Amino acid sequence: MTIQKIGVIGAGQMGNGIAHVCALAGLDVLVLDLNQELLDQATRTIERNLQRQAARGLISSDDVAPALKRVSTTLSYGHLGDVDLAIESAVEKEDVKVGIIEQLCPVLKPEAYIASNTSSISITRLASRTDRPEKFIGLHFMNPVPLMQLVEVIRGIATSEETYTAGAELIERLGKKVAVAEDFPAFIVNRVLMPMINEAIYTLYEGVGSVEAIDTAMKLGANHPMGPLELADFIGLDTCLSIMQVLNEGLADTKYRPCPLLVKYVEAGWLGQKTDRGFYDYRGETPVPTR
Ligand code: NAD
Repeated sequence: MTIQKIGVIGAGQMGNGIAHVCALAGLDVLVLDLNQELLDQATRTIERNLQRQAARGLISSDDVAPALKRVSTTLSYGHLGDVDLAIESAVEKEDVKVGIIEQLCPVLKPEAYIASNTSSISITRLASRTDRPEKFIGLHFMNPVPLMQLVEVIRGIATSEETYTAGAELIERLGKKVAVAEDFPAFIVNRVLMPMINEAIYTLYEGVGSVEAIDTAMKLGANHPMGPLELADFIGLDTCLSIMQVLNEGLADTKYRPCPLLVKYVEAGWLGQKTDRGFYDYRGETPVPTR
């Protein structure tokens, strides 16, 4: 089956990015979230990001309006009946993802594929909650989706070869590169990246360095384009904590213990850029370290 229409569930920073790249590649996209305000915000973000890409000469300005036209939004699962692939990209909480899957399955056509953009949760376990585990796959996009080249493709134990091929072909059509990862906690990118971010937070927690010193050290000392704390704010501290919890529970090694300071920031609702405060305060003109 050729994939022509995509449903995206969850219109946050990843969901709107996925909708953006799919629409730009000529696919029709229907985005679902919990309320109209979130959907309107996502549409505005897609428009702004497309225009920014056109202004930088990365895409033709003639492509902006047609891409935007291919994106529509809905609050009702009932409208997802004709999508060829539904990509779940809601918050990194297994119960939320399972709730979405349970609402999706009865409305999707039998031949439709389901993908999850989860950063860490078992694809096999999510697939087992569907009526079509062989048609379920992990498509882990990177943030920001329009700019990042890679998509990790994760096969659950039941994922069929046909589903894998359809997923990999879609990623190619989006102009991105595939890295195949086995279905173990946090796959490849976050298995390596997130313990480093967590360790940077421990370094802050133990007073080894300030926010500024840690980020400067890793930018200038390890040649990373962003410091680990800046990157954590960009990813979302709730997402970082969820991934560490999945690693901790899934691999049962104390080296994956989430830093108590990360837990505290999440409890405060300081989730990084998306809430204007995390390891930096983004409310002024330039970000100011919060510790
Ligand atoms: P986000 O907080 O920006 O957006 C999550 C969205 O999900 C919100 O718009 C929220 O309203 C919506 N949502 C919550 N419950 C829902 C429900 N029951 N039904 C429909 N929508 C619901 O988060 P994000 O950064 O876009 O992350 C989304 C997914 O992508 C997560 O699984 C995350 O692990 C994964 N991911 C994140 C990154 C990253 O850098 N942030 C990178 C790759 C993958």
